[in-house]
Amino acid sequence: MTTPKALRTREQFLPFAAPLVGQEEVDAVVECVRSGWLTTGFKVKEFEKAFAEAIGCRHALAVNSCTAALHLALEAIGVGPGDEVITSPMTFTATAAVVEHMGARPTFVDCEPDTLNLDARALEKRITPRTKAVLPVHFAGQACDMDAILEIARRRGIKVIEDAAHAIPTRYKGRLIGTIGDITCFSFYATKNVTTGEGGMVATDDDGYAQRVRLMHLHGMSRDAWKRYQEGGSWSYEILAPGFKYNLSDVAAAIGIPQLRRCDEFHARRSLIARRYHEAFAGLDGLRVPAVADEFSHAWHLYVIQLELDALRIDRDEFIRELGRRKIGVSVHFIPLHIQPYYRDRYGYAAGDLPNAFGAFQRIISLPIYAKMTDEDVEDVIAAVLDTVESFRR
Ligand SMILES: *Cc1c(COP(=O)(O)O)cnc(C)c1O
Repeated sequence: MTTPKALRTREQFLPFAAPLVGQEEVDAVVECVRSGWLTTGFKVKEFEKAFAEAIGCRHALAVNSCTAALHLALEAIGVGPGDEVITSPMTFTATAAVVEHMGARPTFVDCEPDTLNLDARALEKRITPRTKAVLPVHFAGQACDMDAILEIARRRGIKVIEDAAHAIPTRYKGRLIGTIGDITCFSFYATKNVTTGEGGMVATDDDGYAQRVRLMHLHGMSRDAWKRYQEGGSWSYEILAPGFKYNLSDVAAAIGIPQLRRCDEFHARRSLIARRYHEAFAGLDGLRVPAVADEFSHAWHLYVIQLELDALRIDRDEFIRELGRRKIGVSVHFIPLHIQPYYRDRYGYAAGDLPNAFGAFQRIISLPIYAKMTDEDVEDVIAAVLDTVESFRR
């Protein structure tokens, strides 16, 4: 299908992202609220069990955000003042902020220019005697080069904590993300592939880390303190460490259970949209489609095109405005962290210090990709992008 559609403009603005929640989620919340048990309880247990089974990890611990999961993961491996944690600049602020919370220093390693994942070849040069962990981010839902990262990390005695906020369900060489590094952190934020509104999960196969995260996620109180208001529960508890308040509520977990059940269905829909975009845009003069090693292993949380600025008369910001005029909401993932004032000023980064991340930032646009989109929505995005490219090609 080609031209006449390109001139049609939608009446209604298409949001960049929206969750797909249905009657099942509504019913689950109503049932939970009626039960009277609103905080962490049996729904959270059920959600954790279902998640561990779905991913194939030994332990899954529900928390109230991926940010909390990352913070707890760093705490569990013992990151502290003076330590360094290597991560990618192409991520959300939370990935690096938690390193700062532990009194440690985030060190940014440039990303690969095409996948925008942390460049494993650049990793080893940035390791110092103070490096405690590497924190790769599976950008857009495509796995990082985990063999290379793990090989370097194991050889140098550093831990691997994965930011898998985009990566459900992402596969790496057939294995699901969540079963690979030392600790993996997931997000159930409203726009993520599986949502609880706000929420997150810590996945690990290590009993010690699981125990520490379990302890620290709820005030550092002795085991199963949440049961203290039940019949047979004891009012007494012990504080074993000054923990955090990072537990997930049963109301949120009630949304997560049916969401998780529909994860493959959502993923199939996202994959289909990615395929359709690829068909429409591959080879087009004016933009590059995402570099994908294996479309079936990709979670397709984001679909990030890169403009070929030499071929266009407008820049990225103007391109986004044109899409907005065509009633299509888009976003940019991410503003590289090393150019954000805090990191730039604190550590003295220049934009060009990480040229791949900074270069990509001038060119990237995230198109809408979510299960709730109709076929017509998808065709409208395609028409708007094609029309903009054709209208502003040099
Ligand atoms: C969304 C996101 C987070 C934070 O997730 P929350 O659940 O909102 O705390 C962390 N890292 C990346 C890459 C994200 O996209």
